[in-house]
Amino acid sequence: MKCPKCGSKRIKRSQSRGFKEQLQKLFNQKPYRCIDCGWRGILKTKSARTKRDVKKYILIKIIIIIIIIIAIYLIISHLDREEPTPDQQSAIIYTKTFIA
Ligand SMILES: [Zn+2]
Repeated sequence: MKCPKCGSKRIKRSQSRGFKEQLQKLFNQKPYRCIDCGWRGILKTKSARTKRDVKKYILIKIIIIIIIIIAIYLIISHLDREEPTPDQQSAIIYTKTFIA
């Protein structure tokens, strides 16, 4: 963490002021104050994710992938079941007789 104004590393967490900053806290955006120049502002905190959060994140990703696979499978099986149009049917018969 570095102060965006003076580049000092001596910054510390500041108290959240008001509803907006309370809300930003939920998105890892926390208020900080620079000890050297007195700057105060919101900084995005890195590595705020705990191991549990990472596990949750991976689990959500896996669930999304499974849902996508199921959706693709349903779409493909639905397409297979679709009756061919008369034009396609005559084309299939034509190809079959042509091959045989
Ligand atoms: Zn500073």
